[in-house]
Formats: sequence, structure tokens, C-alpha cells
Amino acid sequence: MGLKDDKIVPGREERVLACMAHGGCASGMGKQDKVCLKNNERSFSQAGLCQLLPTLGMLLTLPETAVVVHGAIGCGSTGFGMNTAIRLHHLLRGNPNAKDSLWFCTNLDESDVVHGGEQRLEETILTVAEKYAPKSIIVLQTCTPSIIGDDLVGVIEKVRPQIDIPLLYSHCEGFKTKVWATGYDVAFYAIVHGFIEKDKEGPPKRKAPRKPEDRPVVNVINLASMGKPDEIELERLLNALGIDVVIGPNFADRETVRRMTQADLTVSVCPTHDDYLVDYLHKEYGIPFVLKDMPIGLANTRSWLLDIARHFGLEEKALKLVEEEEAKARRAVERYLPALKGVRVFLSAGEFRAVVTGGLFQELGMEIVGLRSYHHDDFGTEFYQQLVAAQKGKDFPVDIANFQPFELVNLLKKVDPDLFCGHVYDNGWAAKLGYPTITIFRIFDHYVGYRGFYEVAKKAVRNLRNSAFNKKLSQNVGEAYRPDWYAKSPFAYIKSDAVEPLPDPATAAA
Ligand code: SF4
Repeated sequence: MGLKDDKIVPGREERVLACMAHGGCASGMGKQDKVCLKNNERSFSQAGLCQLLPTLGMLLTLPETAVVVHGAIGCGSTGFGMNTAIRLHHLLRGNPNAKDSLWFCTNLDESDVVHGGEQRLEETILTVAEKYAPKSIIVLQTCTPSIIGDDLVGVIEKVRPQIDIPLLYSHCEGFKTKVWATGYDVAFYAIVHGFIEKDKEGPPKRKAPRKPEDRPVVNVINLASMGKPDEIELERLLNALGIDVVIGPNFADRETVRRMTQADLTVSVCPTHDDYLVDYLHKEYGIPFVLKDMPIGLANTRSWLLDIARHFGLEEKALKLVEEEEAKARRAVERYLPALKGVRVFLSAGEFRAVVTGGLFQELGMEIVGLRSYHHDDFGTEFYQQLVAAQKGKDFPVDIANFQPFELVNLLKKVDPDLFCGHVYDNGWAAKLGYPTITIFRIFDHYVGYRGFYEVAKKAVRNLRNSAFNKKLSQNVGEAYRPDWYAKSPFAYIKSDAVEPLPDPATAAA
């Protein structure tokens, strides 16, 4: 099965054997052949995230689209949190008049749970179409209507002939998966089925092979965690090789999504994020793909560009570009290197982003002393080994955790890094412990390519030089947990035979 034939998006636990709970060493990642990481569990969990959040994070970016969340009001409230980020994204895309994203909730109550919510869903879709005249409507079915047996597809097919715009839908029940990255697949499913497979014009035909005189066209799959500055950098590099770029599906309209079926190559910016869509374009449209690297750091950007160039016989041109760009980037960061040499850094983010950013820090002369990843799947495995090898076998602890701040805080106290690099909600915990922090992603900033390499170095030095705020903060906030928690292993609540003792930083070097 795959995106086209799946009736419901499978959880990533099943599809890519993703795991949410593991504590061990970087050198041990991927070597747990005796233990099925997939079955790891926590006996205590402090936090979690419903897949609806990343799904909405992607789908609310589609221009002039309304999203209907079919469920209880609590599910719909997730939409509030998205408005600021999405307006800022639009601002960076040159649209100063961007409005809040358009989302609605069917607001099911006790009576609907008894009598069913299909009628209410039908009325909501028709009302939204009439009153707000969006260019498309997306319906996401959450836990409650699925538990009571509402027939989402039945309602959609009943309503479809009555409205003249694309109607997208997806099942998005939080209870079906603990791996919230499944939400990306749910968004891809809605986009592909709504704009391609079930579109009124039907799916576009396969493109004829490219003529040698035509410029190659490459799909670059943009992430929720990629801002406009990063898109500009990737477009700049590919254009310099004579390659045209279609960027989507975030912020893409129906026409752009359909154009993605006509590309000569699909390129992922994050394999963890994109494989479901990349596989669809490959199977249904024969589009080859590159699904290996994230272009963060010099080595990863080099391999990302060369892999693309190889498809079009442009290796020589790409190599020249890479060498010129690397030389420039190295010259630009020279003045920062003394301040960064030997700085011990802890990373926290989605797995792929965390490991590749670790590679960037190592290129700047820093050392990775700990990493917390929101989940683990096989796309990241070899990168852990690369990080350990790059610091001459010096190992570091890895916490696979869907947030779980109690594990993070405990681990930070044991590892005691010089710098913490994570998403903003993780950085708050590190800041309260007094560590200098930098964001691993903000929509205004550069992270990918050569510009990203320079900007991350600059940001790290600035924060290391001026960490007084976080120090003062730590002196004025209380401990988050009782002392007896810190006496235990941060992985004490992970139920698995694979839990390993923390590597001792003093003796970990091979
Ligand atoms: S877990 Fe279910 S009920 Fe809770 S927010 Fe997610 S979809 Fe809604």
C-alpha cells in the first residue's frame, strides 16, 4: 500500500517502525538487534502531542483554504496557535496583508456523541463554502467522530457535487498514533487526494521524458520547519546549476501541487518528513527522487547538491559551485571559530534536524554531548554513527522522547553542556537551568545551505558571549523537579531492555 491506496494513513509506528521511547548512547542507535525499539514504552509520561497539530501546521498554510476540524472544540482550538506563525510566514513571502488562517470546528457536544455528528459536518462544510468562499476546503476527522462511527467519506461524497471547489479530507485521530510526525503524512494524504486523485479534472497525465535542451525541473518538498530565507537559499543554489524549482506543498495552491507531478526529480529536505509524498510521486508519476540528506552543514549540503546534480549530468558544475561556496562560507566563519572551539553542545529537535545540525556544529569545532530527539526511525540511524566517528568515538547520550521535559531536565543536569540548541519550547527548560540557548529553527532565520552555516555560527557566538539573561533566570526560578528525581537515571521510566547506562563523558572516547 501507499499514499494512493491507503484508505486511512497508517501510524508511523507501523509504516516506518518509528519509536518514541528510548534512552541510550549514540553509538548504540540502530544496533539494538535484540530489542524491538518499536515496542519501547514509558511507564510515566508527562507530555505528548496529537498529530492534529503538525497536520494543521501544514494545511493552514495552503492559500485561501478553509480547514474544518470535525470534532470537539478542544481539537479545534489547536488552530489558534497557528495563526501567528502562518501570518509571519506570509509576511516573509511578500504578503503584508495576510489574514489569519481560516479554520472552523464542528464543536461536537454530548448530544452529537449520542445522535451522530454527520449532519453537523455537512452543514458546516456548506456554510463555510457559502459564507467564506475559500478556494478549497479541507476536513479533518478527529477522535470523537471516529469513535462514534461518523462516516467522513460518506459526508464528503454527498457534499462534493454541491460545491464547486476542491474538497480535501483526511482521518486525523490523535489516538491512532503516538508518533506525531504521522501528521505530515495525514496532510500529504489530504493534499494529494484532494488536488490530484479526486480533483474534478482527474489526475494530470504523466509527463513525457525531458528533452535535452529543456532545463531540469526539481520538486523541493518544503517543511513546516523551513522558513522563506531557507527556501531562497536552496532555490539560489539549484538555479546556479541551471535547475528550475517547484517548492511545495506548504504554501502551494492547487495548480502548484499539480505541477509537482510534472517534475524531473523530487528532492526531500528532510527524509523523515517527506517519504510518504516522495514515494507517491515516484510510484504514480515515475519521478525519481533524492531522499537522503538535509542540507544543513557543509558536508550535508555538499552531498545534497551533488546527489541532485548527478541526475542531470551536472556533477562537474555542482562540484565547482560547492567548492566556491564552501570556501566563502569557511572564510566567513573564521572569526567565530576561536569562540566555538571545544564548546559542548546539546541538541533537541525532530531526529533528522537534530543529527544534521550536530554535524554542522562539529564542522565549527564544537562537540556534541547529548541529543534529545522527538522520535527515532531508520532515516537517522547512520547519522548518529557519523557524529560519534567525527568526534573520534566520543559517545554521547540520546533520549528519544515525545517532549517529556522531566527526562530532558534530568539529562541536562548530568551532561551540563555549554550551549543548548533546540526548538523554542525546549529552550525554555534549558534557559531556566541557566544554559545559553539558540533556536534550531525560527521562520525568519537561515539554517540550510551556506548562508545557514554562517548564520548558525554567528548566532551561537552571540549567545555564548551574552548569556547573562539565562543565568539570572536560573537564579530566580525554582527547581522544576524534586531532588530525588535527579538522583535517578533520566531513562528510569522507559520500559525496555535496550536502556543503556549513560556514557561517562570523561571515559567515553574510544
Ligand atoms: S487526541 Fe483526539 S481528541 Fe485530542 S486533540 Fe487530538 S484529535 Fe482531538
